[in-house]
Amino acid sequence: MGQQKTVWDNPAEIIRHTQPENPVMVFAPTVLQDRARTFIKGFPGLVTYAVKSNPGDAVIQNLVTAGIGGFDVASPSEIDLVGRLAPRAARHYHNPVRSDAEIAHALAAGIRAWSVDSRSELDKLFAQVPTSVDGEGVEISPRFKLPVMGAVYDFGSKFGASPEYAADMLKEVAARGYVPSLTFHPGTQCTDPIAWESYIREVRNICDMAGVRAHRLNVGGGFPSHRVTGVEPDLESIFTEIGDTVVECFGDDAPALVCEPGRGLCADAFSLITRVKAVRDGANVFLNDGVYGGLSELPIIGNIDRVQVLSPEGKPREAERSGRVIFGPTCDSVDRLPGELSLPEDITDGDFVVFHGAGAYSTVTSTRFNGFGQMTHATVMALE
Ligand SMILES: *Cc1c(COP(=O)(O)O)cnc(C)c1O
Repeated sequence: MGQQKTVWDNPAEIIRHTQPENPVMVFAPTVLQDRARTFIKGFPGLVTYAVKSNPGDAVIQNLVTAGIGGFDVASPSEIDLVGRLAPRAARHYHNPVRSDAEIAHALAAGIRAWSVDSRSELDKLFAQVPTSVDGEGVEISPRFKLPVMGAVYDFGSKFGASPEYAADMLKEVAARGYVPSLTFHPGTQCTDPIAWESYIREVRNICDMAGVRAHRLNVGGGFPSHRVTGVEPDLESIFTEIGDTVVECFGDDAPALVCEPGRGLCADAFSLITRVKAVRDGANVFLNDGVYGGLSELPIIGNIDRVQVLSPEGKPREAERSGRVIFGPTCDSVDRLPGELSLPEDITDGDFVVFHGAGAYSTVTSTRFNGFGQMTHATVMALE
């Protein structure tokens, strides 16, 4: 037997050679590394990666290779994952609710940065977490929220204290001898820089209310990926707006900035190859993957528009496009993409539908419901 080919040119080559019956999640490490460098160069502070968005080993390894030196982790298993793959990287434990056992696990792993959004959780940290570890101060960052602006999905309904409450916690964190910092997470897929601007202005107020200088400010994730045909996410404008607003609010005395993108880093480095099981009666399209698999996010945050249809020979279908209802393979009626997707009219059974920008909240949330959803993984040089 010849040597197995492990790095393909692009999704079309995979289709031509393997005619995959299961969904294939295709990863382009060069795209991920390029995006990481865009963040490192453009963002005016430390870039950390929100592991939950795609915790694949290869993702973390490539981010480290590209220079990402920190990770936002939310569970003992994410703490250990990063500890194993990137032992020198900073780990920020930014899930504001933790059991005593989780706190103990994190302490044993050497975690030195925590976020918090309630008095009761802050008391748990005070009881268990020392003010310094290995001679370095331990940072506690109250997390606050504002009414949602500019995000497609509201994280504030679960996490975040009011600004006044955050100010009280910040004051107490400083008084107890921890490193006082602040954090917020504006939501996900925020295409408008206003989402960060209004938060940063509030940070100034919180510091004034508390009479405390925040050591660092973590501006969360929420950076957009490329979901819509022809509309590039404008990361540079967001970076500029964040930097300018911080200077305007704090002058020379600004807190050091940190961000924790998930989607903005990983989504565009992946494409999902799905196969058309049937174009039922020439109308609705049934795919071999859907909302219980690699497309689980779409009902919450909307369709991915960058979609290509390829024939089994790997050739793009180029007929005029029209709206189709798309169903996934399971027998559950909610297994349907929102609204309609614009697809070429000559799409037919056995074709492949490639969703570009599918790397966030997909590999990790995919289920095996109804016996479907077995995803294979492949590495490519390029995604188109
Ligand atoms: C999920 C999450 C992120 C990453 O969000 P993206 O929208 O994927 O960038 C960052 N910070 C916190 C606290 C989160 O919960």
